[in-house]
Amino acid sequence: MQTLNVDLGDRSYPIYIGNNLLTQADLLRPHIVGKQVMIVSNTTVAPLYLAQLKATLGDQYQVAEVILPDGEQYKTLEYVNHIFDGLLKNRFNRTCTLIALGGGVIGDMTGFAASAYQRGVSFIQIPTTLLSQVDSSVGGKTGVNHPLGKNMIGAFWQPKAVLADTQVLKTLPERELAAGIAEVIKYGLICDPEFFQWLNINMPALLNQNDNTLAEAVYRSCLNKASVVAEDETETGVRATLNLGHTFGHAIETEQGYGKWLHGEAVATGMLMAAELSQREGWLSAEDVKAVRDILISANLPIVAPSDMSAQAFLQHMAVDKKVLDGSLRLVLLHKIGQAVITNQFNQDNLMKTLNSGVQ
Ligand code: NAD
Ligand code: MG
Repeated sequence: MQTLNVDLGDRSYPIYIGNNLLTQADLLRPHIVGKQVMIVSNTTVAPLYLAQLKATLGDQYQVAEVILPDGEQYKTLEYVNHIFDGLLKNRFNRTCTLIALGGGVIGDMTGFAASAYQRGVSFIQIPTTLLSQVDSSVGGKTGVNHPLGKNMIGAFWQPKAVLADTQVLKTLPERELAAGIAEVIKYGLICDPEFFQWLNINMPALLNQNDNTLAEAVYRSCLNKASVVAEDETETGVRATLNLGHTFGHAIETEQGYGKWLHGEAVATGMLMAAELSQREGWLSAEDVKAVRDILISANLPIVAPSDMSAQAFLQHMAVDKKVLDGSLRLVLLHKIGQAVITNQFNQDNLMKTLNSGVQ
């Protein structure tokens, strides 16, 4: 097992990464505040791992659970309210701990509920998707969607600990695994060129879910995210580079309707578009762009935007992106592999050529 400390002063916390951590009471118990524990999970993950988690907690706590329906469409205030209902019905007090057992949807909702219940209680993340282990469980962003915008209601709220158990990834559908790998590749591209090379070599083992390879990929991803977050907790600067591929990707997700493309799939295509624009700006070489394309293909990720998606459709969705500042579009681009920049200094023609490249 490896332990990584997220360094945020008095809000610092450990991320434990390894195999079969869900069975290890000595990892979990020191981070539980109080005697009341609320486990939040969903109808897919609970049948797989809830019994194990409860067995690990033992009988020294008052354990309650809220099992939510599975899906991004339930990441709403209405369903967060089900968590509050459970806490109040079971008379949970301010000294209690929420445990998120699930992917990013459950993690974001549980964290948000913890930030608001009685003005803030403790919570622990047990992320069960690769995406949530390498991304959403690190950094303290919590929240829900609003009909008018994704992740628009939320809070920064840090967990007491994160348990990233690679064993639970064994039940993950293949597409979800690949979508998580897109975010793993992202760290190599934005700030860790050695990791990018390592991923090139280790992609087959990663797809085969080799325990050590998975653990190393999660560790290195969390290390990169944690260092960016420690530098810029509330995203006033460098943290925005974590959105490489996301402006293009969100446009694809929105245009297609949520659920058709997985987030990581859209980000994969978006990262290649960012690399292509970076090449047009004269920063990346043709070989660099080929390396980006090849690694995405090797991870079974899509690399071409929907053929019927026009540049106009892209621009329309990109205009509402959170990174638009004073009316000018800012994008995360690559100066080289392993060095991302956030900039509004790019040629409009180059952008249009990039947006049109998928149209047939
Ligand atoms: P998800 O939580 O919807 O999980 C994907 C699917 O896998 C679901 O059907 C889930 O039930 C299932 N699943 C989860 N664990 C499983 C397991 N071990 N075995 C079998 N099936 C399993 O999606 P996700 O990709 O984990 O997370 C996406 C969410 O995370 C989005 O809502 C996104 O906004 C959010 N997110 C948040 C941050 C952040 O910083 N807070 C960062 C990135 C993404
Ligand atoms: Mg993402």
